[in-house]
Amino acid sequence: MSRYLLKFGGTSLADINQIQNIASRIKVISDQGHELAVVVSAMSGKTNELISMVSEVSADYCPEEYDVIVSSGEQVSAGLLAISLKKIGLNSRSWLGWQIPIITEGVHSFSRIKDINVNAINITLKKREIAVIAGFQGISSSGRITTLGRGGSDTSAVALAAALKADRCDIYTDVDGVYTSDPRLVPKAKKLNKVTYEEMLEMASLGAKVLQTRSVELAKNKKVRLQVLSSFNNVSGTMVVDEDEILEKEIVSGIAYSPNEAKITVSGVSDKPGIAARIFGPLADSDINVDMIVQNISLDKKTTDLTFTITRNQLKQAINVLEKNKDNLGYEKIISNDKVVKVSVVGVGMRSHPGVAQKMFSILGEKNINIHVISTSEIKVSVLIDEEYTELAVRSLHTVYGLDEN
Ligand code: ADP
Ligand code: ASP
Ligand code: MG
Repeated sequence: MSRYLLKFGGTSLADINQIQNIASRIKVISDQGHELAVVVSAMSGKTNELISMVSEVSADYCPEEYDVIVSSGEQVSAGLLAISLKKIGLNSRSWLGWQIPIITEGVHSFSRIKDINVNAINITLKKREIAVIAGFQGISSSGRITTLGRGGSDTSAVALAAALKADRCDIYTDVDGVYTSDPRLVPKAKKLNKVTYEEMLEMASLGAKVLQTRSVELAKNKKVRLQVLSSFNNVSGTMVVDEDEILEKEIVSGIAYSPNEAKITVSGVSDKPGIAARIFGPLADSDINVDMIVQNISLDKKTTDLTFTITRNQLKQAINVLEKNKDNLGYEKIISNDKVVKVSVVGVGMRSHPGVAQKMFSILGEKNINIHVISTSEIKVSVLIDEEYTELAVRSLHTVYGLDEN
């Protein structure tokens, strides 16, 4: 007998019919004699709908109330799934974040899990009652409902799998595993049987939303066995594993893209020590995450341009911060562009094989795609390009690194 944590995403719970299908799928696993805890997302589209209702009421909403509202989608699906399980003869009950409790810290809508008390769930699992847990939500130390950022049910699932010492955490979604690229954009993408935690971490943080980045980070740190698989068929999925479990390491294992980018150039700032700190300090103080950065060479040794990227929905706020600090920064002008996308090539084999970046730049050059900013790490190369070339760039890179399905 094993203990499994099963997580079902919104696309697997789109309507009542699908929720009942999921209940039947859970019954098959439960009938094999395993202890099951299930984490659910909101029904697909629900969270977006709740977010737009919040914005409709006020652009300047209170983050505590935002979390109360957007977390409610998971409450509905947890209740509906628990009823569906009971209907087919399984013992089950729903759990909300605060009832467990899943204690979180940090700002509302991007909270982080600090602690989970699994005593009560452990007792119910031992009694062979299926715990259906609302993902994405927790409770702060001051007793307010919190949420874990978009896609946060993945993180609820991995954190619970770790706390419950589950034998495996299975993330059921609408694709049957992790692919070499988003199969929606790249029809020739191949399913990976295994991917390393590190590669998955890079892919997730570079835009592959199949897993929330924090869930991978947590799985890596807590050594949770993690599988991504489809809730629509019975094909085995992708296992996220340690590097030493993969014998043949691919040089490049995936191409990711993130459409959620914006670029800012602060032009004509004085070229002297401390200027970068003066620009990025106020942005950090306003919780604006800066990603890629380039500082241009100063031709006159007096002024220079600094270009960087941030998430697109923080563009207005970032420009406001820079304008407020104009006197202190002493720049000439700010140029912004929110029609850009970040495309990245990821692979642990890159560590020992030079030339990956060169190949990327050559193919983009051949296709006449201009690169705005470049950044690299040991196992990835990212470039910022114009949004209109996303499909061409991702598909061309997928082909040139030999990833296309035959
Ligand atoms: P869920 O509702 O189950 O949480 P998500 O929509 O959050 O599902 O994540 C699944 C989606 O992730 C897929 O439909 C796919 O379009 C997208 N995706 C992006 N990159 C990848 C990738 N490399 N492999 C698989 N899916 C990917
Ligand atoms: N329902 C939440 C969202 O749409 C959490 C999740 O799906 O993981 O972001
Ligand atoms: Mg998701």
